[in-house]
Amino acid sequence: MNSDCIFCRIIARQLPSTTVYEDPHTLAFLDIAPIVKGHTLVIPKTHHDPLLDTPGPVLEQLILVVRKLARAMRSGLGAAGINITQANGPLAGQIVPHVHFHIIPRFNDDQHSWAAPQGDYDDDDDRCRFATQIQAAITSDPEHNNG
Ligand code: 5GP
Ligand code: ZN
Repeated sequence: MNSDCIFCRIIARQLPSTTVYEDPHTLAFLDIAPIVKGHTLVIPKTHHDPLLDTPGPVLEQLILVVRKLARAMRSGLGAAGINITQANGPLAGQIVPHVHFHIIPRFNDDQHSWAAPQGDYDDDDDRCRFATQIQAAITSDPEHNNG
């Protein structure tokens, strides 16, 4: 537990939240400011951040609960779609530094839109350069063979 962390304090019941699901490793609770009503956060009960540095076994448990919640939104809320999002770092919009997934149910009339303009690469070289740099980093990463 990190006593400076809002989500650790929610896990410890030092702060209130509306629990949707809990097991020994994972807590799912309603986001206090929902993008769409039903918007739920799924977090591991151990403090890790960001996702990039979170151990594989923790993430494996977490993603199965993410799927559990998404399925429950489909069957229980009648969601026509589900957005699952996850931010790493303030530049990416992360506010709370305890790894978490957002699960957001979508309805025909929810008035929400993710619409953002998409770009393009300058040319084939430009596109290949990005792929090559990422590929090289994967093979040199000591975590590469650990999933
Ligand atoms: P992030 O931007 O870090 O991916 O998302 C953090 C989310 O946590 C935000 O959507 C925000 O509304 C939610 N949040 C922040 N503080 C609290 C809180 O005290 N309780 C609950 N239930 N949600 C919170
Ligand atoms: Zn924490």
